[in-house]
Amino acid sequence: MNSTTVVGYATNDGDHLCCDCGDDTGEPLFCGFEVDSPAHCAECGCLIEGQSLTTDGRDYVAGKLVDADAPTPTLDAWADLLADHAAEEEDEDALLCYRLRSAIHSVRSAGVAEDAIAPLVDASESLVARLLER
Ligand SMILES: [Zn+2]
Repeated sequence: MNSTTVVGYATNDGDHLCCDCGDDTGEPLFCGFEVDSPAHCAECGCLIEGQSLTTDGRDYVAGKLVDADAPTPTLDAWADLLADHAAEEEDEDALLCYRLRSAIHSVRSAGVAEDAIAPLVDASESLVARLLER
């Protein structure tokens, strides 16, 4: 993909549509179009490929990742988007926080005894707290 690749369409209502749901009656969105928050298709909900995050967009996603207690498919997609556009240490820290909590969530979901993972949880939360103090 490059900056001449159409990755979706913008409607007159300000919505975004992916290439599968939109048509060329909308304003084309080119690869690399910038957003202040992740752009999802208004029809199917998919994350529109090829978008770029502004500084505000990166801050928005980083904040959502840090605040998340458990992973979701949407947050996973946002984490991948932020990983592609991480520009500051805070972005990397937010990703690390999210990935650590996601991993612990997975271990818990697998039914591992809480006693067995307590040291991991404690170490992870200490690291997350230290990262968030920066
Ligand atoms: Zn769509």
